[in-house]
Amino acid sequence: MISKDSKIFLFILFLYTLMSKSEKTKIAIQKIQHDDIHTAVFKALELIHAKNLFKKPNLSVLLKPNILMSKEPEGAVVTHPEIVRTVIQWVKQFEPKKIIIAESSGTTNRGATERAFIGSGIKSVAEDEEVEWIPFDQTNRKIYQVKDPLILDKIASSQLIEEVDIIINIPKLKTHSQCILTCSIKNMFGTLILGNKPKTHAKFPKYEDFSAALADIYSISKPQLTVVDGYLCQEGNGPTRGDVVKMDLILTGYDPVALDTVACEIIGFNPEEVLYINKAAEKGLGTKNLDKIEILGENIKDVYRKFERPKIKPISVPLPRWLADYVGDVIFRASIKFNPSKCKLCSTCWENCPVNAISPPEILRKGNIPIWDKNKCIFCYCCAELCPHEAVDFRINYIRNFFTSKLGIIFSAFIITIVVILILILL
Ligand code: SF4
Ligand code: SF4
Repeated sequence: MISKDSKIFLFILFLYTLMSKSEKTKIAIQKIQHDDIHTAVFKALELIHAKNLFKKPNLSVLLKPNILMSKEPEGAVVTHPEIVRTVIQWVKQFEPKKIIIAESSGTTNRGATERAFIGSGIKSVAEDEEVEWIPFDQTNRKIYQVKDPLILDKIASSQLIEEVDIIINIPKLKTHSQCILTCSIKNMFGTLILGNKPKTHAKFPKYEDFSAALADIYSISKPQLTVVDGYLCQEGNGPTRGDVVKMDLILTGYDPVALDTVACEIIGFNPEEVLYINKAAEKGLGTKNLDKIEILGENIKDVYRKFERPKIKPISVPLPRWLADYVGDVIFRASIKFNPSKCKLCSTCWENCPVNAISPPEILRKGNIPIWDKNKCIFCYCCAELCPHEAVDFRINYIRNFFTSKLGIIFSAFIITIVVILILILL
């Protein structure tokens, strides 16, 4: 027999469990079975009751996929067009006033975003589904004041993000050479317009500062819903040159910090080293505490697949600030190598380098390569990301970097002095 006191205790415990569960942010992890994207996306949205966002009809909805460049979906660089199609079909059930797909691709060349829409297959999807598509650069511009800025107090973005009723973020899960991971938070960097993407790289060359800028940028659009494309992902040297991994996953949720944290856990990365997750949490954009995240659908451990890390990455070992800066800025400093057999002298790299560290060769002839100014370079990796012919490579020579640095020269001088003293003593 259970006593009356025990019953009261169990009832209070039950209520507490219920309340603490309801306080948690919900993230759904849904497996795509047999390439059935449609069923997986609908199920993942149902698990988090996303239909509650559409309590009334006639809402205008903005979809923000990742269309970094003109690449076919099989390369896993862009959000898969069938995922964009399914999100459109899901939204259509709620009789929206209009659906618009908008993006700024990685390059600022004239027509680059249009070409990316076409090459990714997302323009065809928009036309099939009879929804609008537009590069953000072709929308009206607005300067947004950032609330409680970490590093950016004003941001030039599209007026569209405040004109629509709902923004749905549709990022791709990939590794990222500069930021380690690109997923929910990083995807909203693509709302910047009029060359502000390369300018932001130029202004904040340090990983920590750039991560703070990403959190500020996310905060001005703050999508109400995110559907992560974890169907075909990239590991290694993403976001454009990594290896494709078929993860067959859809993640949904409302909290970008929780989503990116869960994405890290799934691919075996430590969320603490993805600085923009920390910056966004610091800014109050969500939680990175797994105890406050309710996982629906699949378990993290059942879909876990350790990803190869980007070769060039910011350091994450706990060193004193000065030493971390030294190792990150000097020892991990990469050199650009242009591959003459791949380079088509298309001009993308020198037209898009935010600090004009690349210039064309004197003669535009096959076999010649662009000229790189290592003193101007801020290592934003935009040139490698954007080269349409994969002709830009970064290499790190740790030993040369060390011995040509001030510390390396002092160390060499010290060793030489010791050796000379020893020789003198022995003589
Ligand atoms: S390195 Fe790539 S982006 Fe630069 S000119 Fe050559 S092909 Fe174009
Ligand atoms: S050379 Fe490449 S990595 Fe260096 S600043 Fe220019 S675009 Fe960025």
